Amino acid sequence: MPTINKSSPRRPWQPERKAQERRITQSDGFYQSREWKAARLVAMQLNMEKYGVDVAMCEACMGLGVWTVANTVDHTKRRTARNKHLWVEQSNLKCMCSSCHNRKSGSEAHSKTKE
Ligand SMILES: [Zn+2]
Repeated sequence: MPTINKSSPRRPWQPERKAQERRITQSDGFYQSREWKAARLVAMQLNMEKYGVDVAMCEACMGLGVWTVANTVDHTKRRTARNKHLWVEQSNLKCMCSSCHNRKSGSEAHSKTKE
C-alpha cells in the first residue's frame, strides 16, 4: 500500500527563510517588555506623588521651574549591555517631556564614548 508523503514539498528555487533574521536596532524589544512597562509606570506614579499632580511632570523642565507634562521616561544612565540592572532601576529613571528627551538623546549621540 503506497503511503502519501504529506510534508510540504521542498522548493529548491525558493530561498530558505530564516525566522530569526531580524535586525537588532534601537528597539531590542526592551521597551515592549513587561519589566519596562511596570518600571515606567512606577516612575510616572512616583513623579506624580512627588509633585502632587495627576500627570507626570518633566524633571528637566522642573529644574528650570517650568511645569511641563512628561510623556516619556528616560534612562539617566544610558542602557548598555553591562548595566542591565539599571534598566528598570527607579533611581536611573526620569520622567521627561519629548523636547527635553530629544535634546538629551541628541547630545548623547554627539558625545559618543566607547563602551
Ligand atoms: Zn522638559
